[in-house]
Amino acid sequence: MKLKTRAVRDGDHYVVHGQKVWISTAQVANKILLLARTTPIEECKGTEGLSLFYTDMDRSKVEVREIEKLGRKCVDSNQVFIDGLRIPVEDRVGEEGKGFSYILHGLNPERILIASEAVGLGRAALKRAAGYANEREVFGRPIGQNQGIQHPLAKSWMELEAADLMVQKAAWLYDQHLPCAAEANSAKYLAAEACYHACENAIFTHGGMGYAKEYHVERYLRESWIPRLAPVSPQLILCFIAEKVLGLPKSY
Ligand SMILES: Cc1cc2nc3c(=O)[nH]c(=O)nc-3n(C[C@H](O)[C@H](O)[C@H](O)COP(=O)(O)OP(=O)(O)OC[C@H]3O[C@@H](n4cnc5c(N)ncnc54)[C@H](O)[C@@H]3O)c2cc1C
Repeated sequence: MKLKTRAVRDGDHYVVHGQKVWISTAQVANKILLLARTTPIEECKGTEGLSLFYTDMDRSKVEVREIEKLGRKCVDSNQVFIDGLRIPVEDRVGEEGKGFSYILHGLNPERILIASEAVGLGRAALKRAAGYANEREVFGRPIGQNQGIQHPLAKSWMELEAADLMVQKAAWLYDQHLPCAAEANSAKYLAAEACYHACENAIFTHGGMGYAKEYHVERYLRESWIPRLAPVSPQLILCFIAEKVLGLPKSY
């Protein structure tokens, strides 16, 4: 973990300098949850030396620049530059140097949550596609009567249901306090890919109207890229499964 944002102890405060990209809701937030390095990287190994803080977002010390983006317009995304933010010691969460272990607790449920959202988005796209395919008539019959329209939608339904089973399995393991990293990552991967294909199929089912904002499916496709990209990329999930489940050498 090569995180470079530094929090240096100064009496009963820490002083923070650093930056981070893709910070959600920083335009409106009055609090910040911050992971920062409290021990220089050369003096620790692995994920040690990081501490977690929950503190006021003092805008005189934190500059926020919004990132214009393809979708997800309901939430602002930002670059954040921190220059001399003073954090009282009592705003540190838990022990100094153990911050990453606290963050880890949230990573698997976050993946399960995103996976679940992706399944929902894919299902919404399929519902619109099936509705349109039943209504739209070309050559005197509904387009949904053609197997060329039916089969991609049926395949997407199966992919979404299979992904949802992995979501449920991961959620069940998490609720039982059992290890669930492989399942949570797999659920995120499978659900995001199934969602993306369902959204793309929904656009093609709508033909040219799939490109029109009126039918919403173009927006669904734009939104479907987020669970693919974040909070971890599909490539890194494949690396994780290869290494941790299949026992192959770490590749990065
Ligand atoms: C809308 C949006 C909201 C976000 N919100 C947040 C947020 O609230 N908080 C937050 O912390 N982050 C957030 N992110 C960031 C997101 O989690 C990252 O963008 C994502 O994890 C990918 O990391 P990266 O951008 O650094 O890609 P990079 O690490 O630069 O990777 C670029 C590409 O190279 C590939 N790659 C890199 N290394 C390897 C390798 N060894 N093998 C194969 N492929 C590799 C990656 O898979 C990826 O496809 C958000 C991103 C978006 C788009």
